[in-house]
Formats: sequence, structure tokens, C-alpha cells
Amino acid sequence: MIRMESVTKRYPDGTVAVDRLSLEIPDRSITVLVGPSGCGKTTTLRMINRMVEPTEGTISLDGADLQQQPVTTLRRSMGYVIQNAGLFQHRTILDNIATVPRMIGWGKQKSRERAAELMERVGLDASLGKRYPYQLSGGQQQRVGVARALAADPPVLLMDEPFSAVDPVVRKGLQDELLRIQDELGKTIVFVTHDIDEAVKLGSMVAVMRTGGRLAQFAPPAELLSD
Ligand code: ADP
Ligand code: ADP
Repeated sequence: MIRMESVTKRYPDGTVAVDRLSLEIPDRSITVLVGPSGCGKTTTLRMINRMVEPTEGTISLDGADLQQQPVTTLRRSMGYVIQNAGLFQHRTILDNIATVPRMIGWGKQKSRERAAELMERVGLDASLGKRYPYQLSGGQQQRVGVARALAADPPVLLMDEPFSAVDPVVRKGLQDELLRIQDELGKTIVFVTHDIDEAVKLGSMVAVMRTGGRLAQFAPPAELLSD
């Protein structure tokens, strides 16, 4: 479990992005952070993998304070997916995914096999492996982003508006795919979106944040109060 206790992030210019946020993110399910632009969702997500350090409060993973863990160990246990996939433009799709197992010391052949298996897992045809990112649609690129984040088999996946830049029909397909992957692999997923419908569809738990970085509600979708 990821536990945040009264976490505040104040950026050097004085902006309070997250204000005394307490959250318990359960294992093996999808927790969605939802709220308007600027309410602190990305900052919250980035504090979980220590791309951003909290100003106050503590964050723990399975009972151990994140501050006590080497950042490299932490990052390995957390896949990260962003809006435009962030793929290496000069590498093929297969190499984009295989890079991750390579970095953690798998051999070349085994890494490529792992990448091919992950392409299948996220619904990408094997023939796309030889292409470059610019030769794929936005939705396909996001699938590659998900495959790459899964490549080292991390227990946790952090996803920052991963499907926001694709059209609604493709987005629905990606959401369905994510639910299937979650069901099959049982990852702990923290998913950021500004779209309440997406939050309700994907989340086992939904954290509604409001401007100023405060938590307004934390509940299963069926128990959210409308306002
Ligand atoms: P969201 O993901 O909900 O859009 P963010 O976490 O990106 O929100 O931002 C929360 C607030 O912190 C916003 O007011 C934003 O402008 C501010 N902010 C984000 N990053 C920085 C930064 N590096 N320095 C100063 N302010 C920042
Ligand atoms: P499954 O197909 O059982 O759901 P995965 O897709 O996670 O499992 O893994 C597929 C293959 O890759 C398995 O043979 C597994 O042992 C291997 N594998 C996955 N992650 C790792 C890892 N971090 N280190 C070593 N081998 C791994």
C-alpha cells in the first residue's frame, strides 16, 4: 500500500500545489486522482516516484518511508506513463520497449522477446515492432507507452493523463484495455485525469482534488457525492 500522510508541496516560488493530502492507495487496484487543471494531481503523482519531493508530510510504500529508499530502486518498482507516451523517436517500437529490460540487465534476445510479448499484451500487432513512433497513431503510441512501463514488471504503475490526447473512440478502447491488463496482472495503478467520467469508469477508488491541492473526496465511484 502507498500511504500519504498530510503531504504538502510548496514550490520554490511559493505555490502550494498540494496541501496536507492524506491518502491510502490500496494494492492491486486502480486509484484515480481527478480534479481541475492545476489542482495538484501531477505533483501528487510525481511525489510517489520522487520526481518531486514533498515539503512536509510522509509517503510510505508497504510501510517503508520513501525517503529511506534509493531513488533508483524506487523508480524500478514504478512504471510511469505520460500523455504523449514520451517515446524515443529514433528507436523502433520494439527497441523502445526492450530498452527497459536491457537497462535492468536482461540479455538482448530475452529483452526483445519480452518486448514482443508485451506488444501482444497491450494489443499491438507484432508487425508494428519495426516501425518508428512517428509511424504510429496516437492511440498506438500510448499502447507502446503502457507496454514500456510494464516491461520491468513493476508492481506499481503511475499514469498521468495517458489517454487525454487521443480521440474519444480510441480512448474508450484504451480504457477497456487498461481494465483488462489490471485484471490480468493485478498492478497497483495510480491514474491521473481531469475527466470525471474516466475516473468513474476506471477507479476502484477516486480521489477528488480541488484547486489549492486539497482533497475533497476519497471514495469508490458509486459513493461519490456530486457537486
Ligand atoms: P495538475 O496536474 O492538477 O494540473 P500540477 O500538479 O501540475 O496540477 O500543478 C499544481 C499547481 O502547482 C499549479 O498551480 C501549477 O501551476 C503549480 N506548479 C506545478 N509545477 C510547478 C513548479 N515547478 N513550480 C512552481 N509551480 C508549479
Ligand atoms: P505472465 O505472463 O505470467 O502474466 P509476465 O507477463 O509478467 O507474466 O512475464 C512474462 C515472462 O517474463 C515470464 O516468464 C516472467 O518470468 C518473465 N518476467 C517478467 N518480469 C520479470 C522480471 N522482473 N524479472 C525476470 N523475469 C521476468
